[in-house]
Amino acid sequence: MSNENKTQGFSTLAVHAGVEPDPGTGAIMTPVYMTSTYVQEGIGQHKGYEYSRSSNPTRDALEAAFAALEGGQHGLAFSSGLAAVDAVMMTLRPGDEVIAGDDLYGGTRRLFTTHYEPLGIRFHFVDTQDAANVAAALNDRTRLVWLETPTNPLMRITDIAAVAQLLEGHSAKLAVDNTFATPALQRPLECGADIVMHSVTKYLGGHSDVVMGALMTKDAETDAALRTLQNNVGAIPGPMDCFLVLRGIKTLGIRVRQHCVNGRAIAEWLAAHPKVEKVYWPGLPGSPNHDVAARQMNDFGGMISFTLADDSLAASRKVCESTKVFALAESLGGVESLIEHPALMTHASVPADQRAKLGINDSLIRISCGVEDSEDLIADLAQALDA
Ligand SMILES: *Cc1c(COP(=O)(O)O)cnc(C)c1O
Repeated sequence: MSNENKTQGFSTLAVHAGVEPDPGTGAIMTPVYMTSTYVQEGIGQHKGYEYSRSSNPTRDALEAAFAALEGGQHGLAFSSGLAAVDAVMMTLRPGDEVIAGDDLYGGTRRLFTTHYEPLGIRFHFVDTQDAANVAAALNDRTRLVWLETPTNPLMRITDIAAVAQLLEGHSAKLAVDNTFATPALQRPLECGADIVMHSVTKYLGGHSDVVMGALMTKDAETDAALRTLQNNVGAIPGPMDCFLVLRGIKTLGIRVRQHCVNGRAIAEWLAAHPKVEKVYWPGLPGSPNHDVAARQMNDFGGMISFTLADDSLAASRKVCESTKVFALAESLGGVESLIEHPALMTHASVPADQRAKLGINDSLIRISCGVEDSEDLIADLAQALDA
């Protein structure tokens, strides 16, 4: 099976991952199996499918693709990224402790603090840019370490292998939200992580038309526990969404290549612009943990944040509202470029003091570079900065 050949290049893997010609017809794309149930020839005699919450052939193909992309053995699809995070959290019990990054995706942090903390799970939010902070919070009740790298919106980098090494011989599992990097640029399971999570809504789907989540694992026991939760809770995506993501994944390699080309061109252009104060993109030499990013990632992606020399709210608002190619919208990772204002949009739910502590100020602007031509994106930002 092609998706088990790890010597293939990433784009080859992405085109073929999970999809086999349909045995009945030879259809090259996996059909959309719009069915909730499956007829049995006799009681308990069936072709491996009984009910679509438990499994569906279109979802099966996608889950195989998820596993292949991350170099894992197992993949699971969920109805959203947060449903995938929730499945991992539901494996925990009162008294268990979690060490998590201190600038997680807002919804992940909200799930942890508003639902799991009151159930008796203890969270330590630490700056994971330095693995020593993880070591300091680790104890014999730690069951899970939750990382994001690069983080949102400040593109902070954590050394996944260094954290994995800390956990060697410890029962705590290491989970990495790999949404920003994508498996085209970074493969946490190969760095020692136990679980990879994706908001498939972003780069894996890639076309801003689906909300979905994924978990990838390498050991059968972890997979079995999460698969049981997927079925018991039922937060599964429908077959049409699975089909759309199977299609999206085929171009993941080439899309990410262009996201990175645009990311580099725009980050370098912004860094030299007189109206720009600071640029957050892990590929810029001198950015924090640039050496770690260069080692653990193949390239640096298309997510960039920047602040303006004029640090007023009015100035950053004007830029966000003046672009014509960049659409003003939350989310990221699609083919179309997006611009947004974290303090007023994606991170508005983060308390102001926490935002200030992290450096998410009123001047900060975040862009998701799409796959358009670099020159057009730069021209658009140029006119917006001059508006
Ligand atoms: C969007 C996002 C999530 C949440 O995923 P949904 O699909 O919106 O539920 C989690 N982590 C990161 C880094 C994200 O960008």
